[in-house]
Amino acid sequence: MKDYNRLLDDILNTVNSVKHPGSVASYIPELAKIDPDKFGISLQFVNGETYNAGDYNERFSIQSISKVFTLSMAIQSIGDKVWDRVDVEPSGDPFNSLVQLEHEEGIPRNPFINSGAIVICDILLSELDNPKEEYLKFIHELNGSDKIKYNELIYKSEKSKGYRNIAMANFIKSFKNLDNDPEDVLDFYFYTCSIDMSCVELAWCFQLFAQHGKQAADGTLFLDPNQIKRINAIMLTCGFYDESGEFAFRVGLPGKSGVGGGIVAVHPGEYSIAVWSPKLNEKGNSAKGMHALELFTTHIEKSIF
Ligand code: GLU
Repeated sequence: MKDYNRLLDDILNTVNSVKHPGSVASYIPELAKIDPDKFGISLQFVNGETYNAGDYNERFSIQSISKVFTLSMAIQSIGDKVWDRVDVEPSGDPFNSLVQLEHEEGIPRNPFINSGAIVICDILLSELDNPKEEYLKFIHELNGSDKIKYNELIYKSEKSKGYRNIAMANFIKSFKNLDNDPEDVLDFYFYTCSIDMSCVELAWCFQLFAQHGKQAADGTLFLDPNQIKRINAIMLTCGFYDESGEFAFRVGLPGKSGVGGGIVAVHPGEYSIAVWSPKLNEKGNSAKGMHALELFTTHIEKSIF
């Protein structure tokens, strides 16, 4: 039996001893105010054993990690019809790229880049009566508590400066792959990104993907195991923008990152792990977070490969 408390402390000390290049995301002005030296990690096994280190209880902006929640809701809502609107191929381009949309007539490469998530938000807007409330309720049910909230400052900050996403939504609309008004779709998209959660809360919610569709608290089946297989596959191939190959190569787990510096990864049937450190590398992924997860799977000699 491994001493996981010690392992996480060792990982924390190792990543903190290295000077990682990079900077905190600043294109969303509110995110630029976060202390770049924060680091938290939470490891949760499917049998309930939990180990934490550092700033694991501090909430941060989940940003693109929200894309896994919105995709899950869209699949719950319309099933495989989602794939008529969004593809499942890695993009190899940055998270906010517009270039492939032109060649692919407004069909985003996958649901985990901005264009794909915007289309998913459009689906939810059409399908749900109260999209914002139902999105938060989905997270509350997964988490087993209603303490998680959206961060109004972050939401307003991104909404006031989200020029690229505004361009993207209008571009997709020009190909008729948005049914709703782009402004309404973006309003919901920015809301989904602006939820604050801690490493403990994220790892707990992502037990859904480690436990083949079962919610951790009471074992309710949230999604069919075959749908979870697909979501995990897209996390592996598309979860880290144009660094998804590198993440699979170094860490070897399905996962999703966000520009708030969070990363959540899962080993199906075994554990979920969330890490947070705001300084991002040049591809927009948490520099210390990637390093920590690489140390973790290398040390325990267990990845999905
Ligand atoms: N809200 C961010 C954006 O749309 C999310 C980006 C990310 O975390 O990758 O730019």
